[in-house]
Amino acid sequence: MSRRHVVVVGAGPAGLAAADAALAAGARVTLVDSAERPGGQYHRMLPDAYEAANPEVLHHGWAAFDRRVRRVLAHDRCTWLAGTSVWALEREDPARAPLVHVLGEGSPGRRGVLTPDALVLAPGAHDRVLPFPGWELPGVFTAGAAQALAKGERVAVGERVAVAGTGPFLLPVAVSLLEAGSQVAEVLEAAGGARVTRGWLRRPWELAAQAGKTGELVSYTAALARARVPYLLGRAVVEARGDGRVEEIVSARVRADWSVVPGSERVTAVDAVCVGHGFTPRLELLVAAGCAVRGGTPDAVFVQVDDDQLTSSPGVYAAGEVTGIAGAPASRAEGAVAGWHAAGGAPSARPLTALRRGRDQGRAFAGRLAAAHPIGREWPGWLRDDTVVCRCEESDYASVRAAAGDPATTEARVAKLGTRAGLGPCQGRMCAVTVAELRARLGAPDADAAAPHRRPLAEPVRLGELAAPAREYDG
Ligand SMILES: Cc1cc2nc3c(=O)[nH]c(=O)nc-3n(C[C@H](O)[C@H](O)[C@H](O)COP(=O)(O)OP(=O)(O)OC[C@H]3O[C@@H](n4cnc5c(N)ncnc54)[C@H](O)[C@@H]3O)c2cc1C
Repeated sequence: MSRRHVVVVGAGPAGLAAADAALAAGARVTLVDSAERPGGQYHRMLPDAYEAANPEVLHHGWAAFDRRVRRVLAHDRCTWLAGTSVWALEREDPARAPLVHVLGEGSPGRRGVLTPDALVLAPGAHDRVLPFPGWELPGVFTAGAAQALAKGERVAVGERVAVAGTGPFLLPVAVSLLEAGSQVAEVLEAAGGARVTRGWLRRPWELAAQAGKTGELVSYTAALARARVPYLLGRAVVEARGDGRVEEIVSARVRADWSVVPGSERVTAVDAVCVGHGFTPRLELLVAAGCAVRGGTPDAVFVQVDDDQLTSSPGVYAAGEVTGIAGAPASRAEGAVAGWHAAGGAPSARPLTALRRGRDQGRAFAGRLAAAHPIGREWPGWLRDDTVVCRCEESDYASVRAAAGDPATTEARVAKLGTRAGLGPCQGRMCAVTVAELRARLGAPDADAAAPHRRPLAEPVRLGELAAPAREYDG
């Protein structure tokens, strides 16, 4: 019997749900993830070698996740490609899903190509950090990196740590740090109290519809209160200082637009600071697949999907954080809808109604949280001429500003060569959105909001690997 072959990229909440639904609808599934274990960011699993007695510590919804992992990975129609990255998509036939080029970890020559009937892209997001003087010092971590080390390795990034930025994600990060053994000196939320209260408590019946996520937030708040961690609203880290590594941070009260209130600066001694200003979707594969995006500014661009999670690109579905930052429950619902349709499941299947409702409620909940924690327009006021903007290449704010005002470098690509911002090992994953936003504010005519995500090669590939013959996987 000929079955549809569905390739799912990403084994986070969205990709796992997509694989599960596609299997239920009768497809053959190849599930690919660059990580060794499924789970993505939300269910970051400890390595097997740790032989953890309680792997569920620090996790919500572990039992359901564990059941799903076992069901999907043990399924006889599922091929699980762990430690395998998708480095390129190639469309041979405009009416069909693109070929998927994968690369296994380790030795050169482990290059392969998958030929799906339908593709579900669920690669998630990166965490975003706005630059400030001193953020290049050792001891400054992204909130996501600190969370990953705590959850995935049980490693604490410091003994006395501050958590700063904006958004509800700061809460689980602070709690993970406590669990990993750090003392959390303070949590600094840049959004003001009135805005946060309005955003969180407006239309309380919507909170009831998201009981799981609301319960999670309440449990984090309670854990911080028990540990007597100060949670300060309307305050931001505007500088990190130290001799060779972070020894102290300077925080300041900020107005609604995140301009600093003069005289409100205060110094706190810490040996690490974890900073997060929301998330940036990982759009490179979607842009490479030719999927249309929505959102007109570089800091708010997501892939466009219809009610079935189908993108504008034939045979390509998208789910999870790439369609909008809406949290794990919404990602799971989106993944299930995408996987079912990618597999050719009946469009009138009953469970779809509940899944779509869950997805829409999740998106609404996330929308109100995002509205409570917007990035203030005046954050560039924290920058000085010598503030590093691209940490890989150490490009500073003065060079980005000069390039934006120079008629010879008005083209974003030319400016990139001139400033080197975005040319280092992370290929702009950390700084490209920030540089694009700064250039827009400085009047440079960069029109394309998706430009920071244009990376035809999504992962580094060695010449030896390219030269070696590719293995064909038929799923
Ligand atoms: C660092 C970080 C930590 C987070 N921690 C939390 C948390 O503790 N609590 C919370 O509520 N929310 C957290 N979030 C938000 C969280 O990402 C989502 O709510 C949820 O995990 C999104 O699910 P997803 O399936 O869309 O993406 P993810 O969970 O991010 O899964 C995406 C998967 O795709 C894989 N992938 C990406 N690109 C490729 C490629 N080219 N080839 C192969 N595989 C690829 C990744 O390895 C990853 O496993 C975190 C986000 C980030 C960025």
